[in-house]
Amino acid sequence: MPKNLKGREVAEIMQDKCIACQICIGVCPVGAISMEGNTVKINPEACIGCGKCRDVCPVSAVLFKRPSKKKLTFPQQKPAPLEDYKGVAVFIETHNGAAADVSWELAGKARELADKLGVRVSGYLAGAGVEPLAQQAISYGCDDVYMIDNPAFGSYIPRVYSTALVQLCRQSKPEILLIGASPLGRDLAPCVATLLETGLTADCTGLDVDLQERLLLMTRPTFGGNIMATIFCKSHRPQMSTVRPRLFKAPRPDPTHKGEIHKIDFSYPQDRLPHILEFTATALEAGAADITRSPVLVTIGKGACRAEHVPMFQELADMLGGTIACSRPVVEAGLMSYARQVGQTGKTVTPKIYIGIGVSGSMQHMAGIQGAETIVAINSDPAAPIVQAADYSLIGDYREIVPALISRLKNKVANLAGSKP
Ligand SMILES: Cc1cc2nc3c(=O)[nH]c(=O)nc-3n(C[C@H](O)[C@H](O)[C@H](O)COP(=O)(O)OP(=O)(O)OC[C@H]3O[C@@H](n4cnc5c(N)ncnc54)[C@H](O)[C@@H]3O)c2cc1C
Ligand code: SF4
Ligand code: SF4
Repeated sequence: MPKNLKGREVAEIMQDKCIACQICIGVCPVGAISMEGNTVKINPEACIGCGKCRDVCPVSAVLFKRPSKKKLTFPQQKPAPLEDYKGVAVFIETHNGAAADVSWELAGKARELADKLGVRVSGYLAGAGVEPLAQQAISYGCDDVYMIDNPAFGSYIPRVYSTALVQLCRQSKPEILLIGASPLGRDLAPCVATLLETGLTADCTGLDVDLQERLLLMTRPTFGGNIMATIFCKSHRPQMSTVRPRLFKAPRPDPTHKGEIHKIDFSYPQDRLPHILEFTATALEAGAADITRSPVLVTIGKGACRAEHVPMFQELADMLGGTIACSRPVVEAGLMSYARQVGQTGKTVTPKIYIGIGVSGSMQHMAGIQGAETIVAINSDPAAPIVQAADYSLIGDYREIVPALISRLKNKVANLAGSKP
């Protein structure tokens, strides 16, 4: 098996067998696989040797031998019987003293599940200077807020956060624990699930409960997004799930909702804390576009992937107070950055108006726009899947339709300005 420069054994694609289905690209946890022209390639320096690409390849085109693993052992407490676990818990993620929106979206979902099960909703609030958020969590539907307010949570340190969450789970024994599939949540959830020796279903797109068995039904796309699977965790607790931001709508806060705040003591040995040298700003902090917050998305697909037309799309987006997004082939063509990709392996978006220009509406793309209020399709093919799903369709060549749309909007704006006294 080939090795990378660090001496790690890595996966390799046997080009004579590969059918370029791209399923492995979607499962690689570190983005080590990409299309180069018509060929699927693995970057050996990025590969971490997890073997996931080998497991999903339908034609056994990935050469990878799983190294024999040493069994890891954790100091374990005997888990409590399943019937001792009650209630739905939500991890309330915070940044600089403010809660992440996904926490409230999940609090709303937790309330819905808890009402069906007839149990309480707990908010797990761990952060530095987060006391004011406890009351806010109650207004979003939490009946109990377990709060750890400690300077050790000033920056995200996985072992500190996971130890705290494990402590809270052991104390309050929720039957369900929901965590946002944010960058932080995606890192934290598996640590917590491993330490609690329970299951975790990542990136769920639907959550419900089976009342007879008291099971959390966790639905998510699988096999490269070609089918939806409903997964449940029968013999371990809590049943854990992560959910992408913006998939569920946050409820309206209700200031009259009553709840209890429990302050929890937590300490982490100073000598076991890592020494942080500096923080680097993320792409978003550095000013990159955030397509998840824009009320209007003008989304470019492969059928409109032309650099010379980007100013025209930008003009349309600007006139509507929106942002440009794109489908995956546009990122692969190098026209847009990954930050603008909508879909299963891109972002989940919930704009008021989504305009797809030259986007066919593949299952993987549509998975990201389920929450769009109005879908407008501009496509030359009346049989394209997006046309079937759209609220409004403009059938024809975008090179004629988009300039006409801009010109109509300009006229409308001019008329409105002219009619003002
Ligand atoms: C595991 C996995 C994950 C994936 N994740 C994502 C993801 O997150 N996001 C994503 O977008 N894709 C994703 N894909 C890729 C996905 O399967 C599709 O290939 C992709 O969405 C197609 O993009 P498109 O609609 O832009 O292009 P196409 O499917 O090629 O559609 C182009 C459309 O443009 C129209 N068109 C062409 N010319 C014109 C014109 N002049 N005027 C008007 N219309 C025109 C055509 O009629 C067609 O409908 C994923 C695939 C896999 C296997
Ligand atoms: S072995 Fe894992 S990390 Fe390496 S290319 Fe395959 S999926 Fe990606
Ligand atoms: S899953 Fe297999 S056949 Fe499909 S692109 Fe990857 S290596 Fe090729």
